[in-house]
Amino acid sequence: MSTFNLDVVTPTRNLEEMVVSYIRCPGLDGSFGIMANHQEGIFSLDIGEIMIKTKSETKYLSTSGGFAEIVNDGVSILVETVESASDIDIPRAEAALQRARDRKSSSDNENLDQARLENALSRALNRLQVAKK
Ligand code: ATP
Repeated sequence: MSTFNLDVVTPTRNLEEMVVSYIRCPGLDGSFGIMANHQEGIFSLDIGEIMIKTKSETKYLSTSGGFAEIVNDGVSILVETVESASDIDIPRAEAALQRARDRKSSSDNENLDQARLENALSRALNRLQVAKK
């Protein structure tokens, strides 16, 4: 199977460049796959799981969203946060989930930033999901 280069970049770190054969990304309209010779473009990413296949293994990353830029010699994933499944701190994600749920059920709904709350909830649920991989 043809391979291509993948860079994963956040505002604070770069993952080691990888040579991959397939990536599945969490697009805003659902997940989509990228293989060698994919059409070029910039695609928005949602909170979700990034699956990466190399010749020897399949890796899973959690992300809180950003962009995937596809150019002819490779793919750059530019995201706000990224964690590999084994790096996810499960108690931390469980605590974040609990905080978001507590806020959701709090009676002070007037001062609640609903979008921020839903995002925090989704990030925590996603991390817990990816950590199982
Ligand atoms: P928390 O409230 O626990 O900080 P959060 O969803 O608000 O969760 P983010 O703002 O998305 O956290 O991420 C801040 C930084 O912490 C990022 O570098 C992210 O990769 C890292 N991070 C957040 N949660 C976890 C986790 N459960 N395990 C490992 N790294 C995490």
